[in-house]
Order: sequence, then structure tokens, then C-alpha cells
Amino acid sequence: MFEQITLDYGYDGLEPHIDALTVETHYAKHHATYTTNFNKALEKAGIDSTDAVSILANLDSVKDEADRNAIRNNGGGYFNHNLYFENFSSNPAKEPVGELKAKIDETFGSLDALKEKLTALATGQFGSGWAWLSVTPSGDLVVSSSANQDNPISLCTGNIPILALDVWEHAYYLKYKNLRGDYIKAFFEALDWEKVSRKYSELK
Ligand code: MN
Repeated sequence: MFEQITLDYGYDGLEPHIDALTVETHYAKHHATYTTNFNKALEKAGIDSTDAVSILANLDSVKDEADRNAIRNNGGGYFNHNLYFENFSSNPAKEPVGELKAKIDETFGSLDALKEKLTALATGQFGSGWAWLSVTPSGDLVVSSSANQDNPISLCTGNIPILALDVWEHAYYLKYKNLRGDYIKAFFEALDWEKVSRKYSELK
């Protein structure tokens, strides 16, 4: 059974950047439903693996198309939101540290340049989807975007995401309405770069 991560902040812990009602609805309704439906889809398909990355990287092995789509969408929803909610903090570090800081400077020039790239991908994602910062098998950093609940794992890129920027309207509409760009700025205010840095060091 897959379970949602536990938040280490309250629903109001990301105020004023991301409002309490959005965090509660997003985590306790949307993320919870993806998680429930992921578990149901795995049971129906007879898959008992506890490794979400491996399940998402091997969707081709699920022969039934309906089962495969259910696992792709709900497994993506489960995994993506765990990463999304995990990277926030009520007292976020504004800068990456250690190995990630050096790698960002080397790859993108600066943290601001990376944020600009992610912002452009997130703004340009038509409809529902995500923008990503991922680690390649050789430890390099890449940015990308994807539709729906797809991610760099289910798209078989071989890369593992360390930063997940949700641009589904449910992530921002209650507070920011149609202003996705304002939400993206707010996202970076609540993002804890120390958590992202830790993830990079674990994976690279
Ligand atoms: Mn979402």
C-alpha cells in the first residue's frame, strides 16, 4: 500500500504564498484520491511492488491498456504530489547548498537563471501538467515539462525529478485564479532549497 507523505507543516504553513484552503484541498482531496486510486489500480493489475519509481518506469509491462493508464495517471499523481509537498517548508531555505548549488551554477549559470527556465516551462505548459528539475543517470541536471500526471520517470527518460512544480489549476485557482505566473512566483517563495539539495545529494 502506497501512502501519502506526511506534511511537516500545517495546511496554513505556506501562507501567504500558498493559501491554507488550497493546501488542504490539494493534499487531502486531490493527492489522497490519486493515492487511493493508485493502490486500487495496482491491486486490479496484480502488482505488489512497493517501488513506485520502478512501477512508473516499467508501464510497458502492464499489458491491459485500462490498467496501464490507471497506473500511469494515478501512480504519477501519487508520486508527483509526494515530491511537490515534500519540497515545501514553512521556513524555507532560499538558496541551494553544497553540491546542488555548485551544479546549478555550473549548469545554468545561477539560481535565478534556473528559476527563469523553470518558470518559462511551467508558464508554457498548455493545460494541466508539471515542470521538473531532474537528475540524469550521470548526475547532471536537466529541466523539462510534461502534461497531465506524466513525469520524467513514466516518460522513460531515465532521469529522476528532484523538484516538482505543479501547474494544474487545482494547485492555484482558489487564490490566484487564472494568474499562473503569480502562483509560480509564490511557489518559489515556499520552496525549500535545502530539501531539494538533500534530494540531489542522495540521488546523484
Ligand atoms: Mn496537483
